[in-house]
Amino acid sequence: MNRDEIPRPPAAARGSLFAPVRPMPRDAAADGSGDGMDRVLAEVRRSFGFESLRPLQEQAIRASLDRRDALVVMPTGGGKSLCYQAPALIREGLTVVVSPLISLMKDQVDGLRSNGVAAELLSSAQDASERHAVQSAIGARELRLLFVSPERLATPGFLERLEAAGIESLAVDEAHCISHWGHDFRPEYRQIGELRRRRPDLPIQAYTATATPEVRDDIVAQLGLRDPEILVGSFDRPNLTYRVQPRQNLVDQIMGVLRRHSGEAGIVYCLSRKDVERTARELAAKGVSCDYYHAGISAADRERTQDRFQREELDVVVATVAFGMGIDRTDVRFVIHGSLPKGVEQFSQETGRAGRDGLPAECVMFYSGSDYHNWKNLMERSAREAAENGLSGADDELGASLERLGHLWGMATGAVCRHRFLVEYFGQEFEAQADGCGACDVCLGELARVDDSLVIAQKILSCIVRCDQRYGAGHITDVLRGADTARIRQCGHDRLSTHGILAGRSAREIRHWMEQLLASGYLASTGGNYPTLHLSQTGVQCLRGEEEPVLFALQEAPRGKRSGSKRGSESALEAAAAETGAVVDEALYKRLKDLRRSLARERGVPPYLIFNDRTLALFAAERPTDEAALRNIKGVGDKKAADLGPVFLESIAEHAAASGSQTAS
Ligand code: ADP
Ligand code: ZN
Repeated sequence: MNRDEIPRPPAAARGSLFAPVRPMPRDAAADGSGDGMDRVLAEVRRSFGFESLRPLQEQAIRASLDRRDALVVMPTGGGKSLCYQAPALIREGLTVVVSPLISLMKDQVDGLRSNGVAAELLSSAQDASERHAVQSAIGARELRLLFVSPERLATPGFLERLEAAGIESLAVDEAHCISHWGHDFRPEYRQIGELRRRRPDLPIQAYTATATPEVRDDIVAQLGLRDPEILVGSFDRPNLTYRVQPRQNLVDQIMGVLRRHSGEAGIVYCLSRKDVERTARELAAKGVSCDYYHAGISAADRERTQDRFQREELDVVVATVAFGMGIDRTDVRFVIHGSLPKGVEQFSQETGRAGRDGLPAECVMFYSGSDYHNWKNLMERSAREAAENGLSGADDELGASLERLGHLWGMATGAVCRHRFLVEYFGQEFEAQADGCGACDVCLGELARVDDSLVIAQKILSCIVRCDQRYGAGHITDVLRGADTARIRQCGHDRLSTHGILAGRSAREIRHWMEQLLASGYLASTGGNYPTLHLSQTGVQCLRGEEEPVLFALQEAPRGKRSGSKRGSESALEAAAAETGAVVDEALYKRLKDLRRSLARERGVPPYLIFNDRTLALFAAERPTDEAALRNIKGVGDKKAADLGPVFLESIAEHAAASGSQTAS
């Protein structure tokens, strides 16, 4: 590793990645879907207990009802599944959903069935008799929704059977898997294009959370989408609070975060299996309810850990990125990165697993320069190997990966609002508020500003100029600190006026500032194996005192105590109190959560499928005494009211009797 290396800053301005959302004329519906939408809404209220559709969901559903092809790009937690589930409930015929993850599909099928919808799943993991039962349900045209793995779709004769069964619509989940530009290519996905060729009239809707322009175009091309409606959701996740800190003592730093979330669910990502196991061991030794997960442990153990996490029997999972796609726990309150992920896409996907219920959650990343270099070395090595194996395009791919990595590095070391950075990275505009986003370490003022930023920046910049802008960060740091190295003497740099001008500052501190100057564009680096530093135009202006950078000190831990933000600091309880104007009975809330956990275990489904936290909190605020009152509560559909209403009402009544409190009448 070349210590002198500092990665390049991200390009100052990125072009828009996404075309603007095309508004859909209200009267465009060929099948009179104005009235179709009303039916969808009624169905969404009845079956899912949601009051309204999110704007993008409405557009996607409208396109689906109009039998239009569509590509829907929505961040994790945006509510993609409703977009294909809801129209399937009112459409004649079968909707087929292709998805790569069996556990994810299974949760959806369980969820739909608990809401009274005829849905089934076909995967290679089922035995012949299970498959047979599903096949006959398909043949008898009993199903509204069928979920299939791409492997199943690719089996001979399967497409013919779907045609015979009256397939009317196809939804492709995780559609980026069809593209080898994406970060998760699956060759079987290519089979979906075949279905389109056989049934050109079949409308196809593709869904993904991550899409760069290449991937997006590739999805459209591979699926053969015709004049697709392109819908792109907002990439901001206002309920997430982001924090980024240099890694020092990782386990202590993690414990600092965990103290803000005792008894809550979270994920800690580490880079290697070894790091995962060590970190999990150390956390467990400190009394954290945790287990670990990576691709090196047996499938059975992985499944057990995932299930325990899902069932709320385990608070924290320490894992490599192998853990994630399959988890559908919506109440993950924190995601910690123990090191720098590979790129902004990965960061956003992994942090996206926090707070999918819309309640506040915290994302903290701990990074170090060595993470950057490890990734870079890895990327270069695999590009070399690809080239040696005669694969073309390795250089392009390396360039693209390094650029993605560089952007994330820029975010980590820069002091730009994290929400703004992420939203702009995905090609969208960030609506600025005067006092910042209120949900990141930068805007919350947790980063300590260095008082004499301008002077320090000028010292660094002028040292680089004195060294003829031909040296790397390591050497410049040595000169600034007044070190006495052979190289410094050899170059005569001990005679420069800037030699020792920052004596007394630590090397880490100086490197930290240089990284900030790079990230904010005062400095530029040549890149390559021996990158050297030089001043940008703004750097020159800074030397003249015309531009004033803001530098931040190396920090230890966030000073704020709660993960909370102005935009989303409410817990489920506070939200329920605000919504109902009633006092939430916390003991009752706890009791209902326990009931939910045991029901979930009995039924073998994840707890959130019973009712989510917000709905339970509303129960604890409103304390309904009969089914009619229960039905009025957000999140309670007809099926759930009938199925689960009695046990919950009983528990609420028992609680009232036990505590002698008055129930709401
Ligand atoms: P994605 O697949 O895009 O990651 P999901 O479909 O799993 O997201 O939805 C994320 C969460 O949002 C779920 O908890 C879901 O119940 C909730 N949700 C989806 N649509 C709505 C809606 N219209 N109103 C309220 N909650 C919703
Ligand atoms: Zn911010």
